[in-house]
Amino acid sequence: MPFSHHSHSGQFCHHAKDSLESCILQAISKKLRIFCLTEHMPRSDPRDFYPEEDEMGLTPQDLTAAFDEYYTTAVALRDKYKEEITIIIGFEVDYIRPSMLPEIRELQEKYHFDMFIGSVHHLDEIPLDFSKELFLKAIETVEAVDSGADVEEAYNKGTKVERFPEIEITGAKGEKRLFEVYFDTQYLMLTALKPPVIGHFDLVRLKCDDYTIDFRTMKKIWEKIVRNVKFIAEYGGMVEINSAAIRKGWEYPYPGPDVLQLMKEEGIRFVLSDDSHGIAQVAFGYQKALDYLEKQGVEELWYYEWKGWERGIEDGILRPEDRYLPKIRAECVETKSTKVKDLRRIVTE
Ligand SMILES: [Zn+2]
Ligand SMILES: [Zn+2]
Repeated sequence: MPFSHHSHSGQFCHHAKDSLESCILQAISKKLRIFCLTEHMPRSDPRDFYPEEDEMGLTPQDLTAAFDEYYTTAVALRDKYKEEITIIIGFEVDYIRPSMLPEIRELQEKYHFDMFIGSVHHLDEIPLDFSKELFLKAIETVEAVDSGADVEEAYNKGTKVERFPEIEITGAKGEKRLFEVYFDTQYLMLTALKPPVIGHFDLVRLKCDDYTIDFRTMKKIWEKIVRNVKFIAEYGGMVEINSAAIRKGWEYPYPGPDVLQLMKEEGIRFVLSDDSHGIAQVAFGYQKALDYLEKQGVEELWYYEWKGWERGIEDGILRPEDRYLPKIRAECVETKSTKVKDLRRIVTE
């Protein structure tokens, strides 16, 4: 099993399980060659805390301290296991409101990262993938903010929701409206950050009534998707084939076939991710994910490697030009590609 470009651990993420080191050991035992560590960024405003962070009574300082420890731990583990696996150090970014941009920049300056994942988990500040309940709440909030009325639904934990002013207001309601706001929010995230990897592109379908819904049948939404995909193609972003959807009950990974075909036409490069939140999920669903790619006619997958280093995809042996690990920087990693059909031989569940 080859690589994952998106992972979390229970040590630094409270909705995940297991220590970071045990996740890396699991990745090695599953024969992963490349493992990207991408813990969630710390959020400075308690309005943006995940439900379990609220329950635990955490503070923004707790999140910042944990993130700092994550970085130090990741750097040490990268060195400890360099013979066995290439650890790429990154983080997963949320862009919830315009004022978060300087915070993200600050994190990028304070720490050095090889890469990062650009994701959208919140719409009008409400998490959309945690539960059906929160998904429905997100719809209520979006509709309330659309209306401009000063009603309870337009508030998040007691503070009025701060919406991106660029989000287009249409007459749509319900799920359809949520899809629109999702792809507008995603576009703002994409244009602000140009993330090297885009996380779970169609996450908004996770809790909707029918995840197989075809976006091509909804003109307005499809236009937004085409706009986003063309933008990603333009700056050269890569999109993850994220197998977390499979463990959450889908027949295939993110993104679904409508979006995948469009991306293929636009020449988008794909990377493989398990978005694991603990050892049980490392490389989970990869066989199904590869089946899907083959069926959809995607023949190539991309991955990161330290510049100047070569690790056999099949044997995992390291062939470096020198023995010193490169600095942790985007400039010190490169992207390479491999054939889906070659990965089939390596991937066994
Ligand atoms: Zn998570
Ligand atoms: Zn995510």
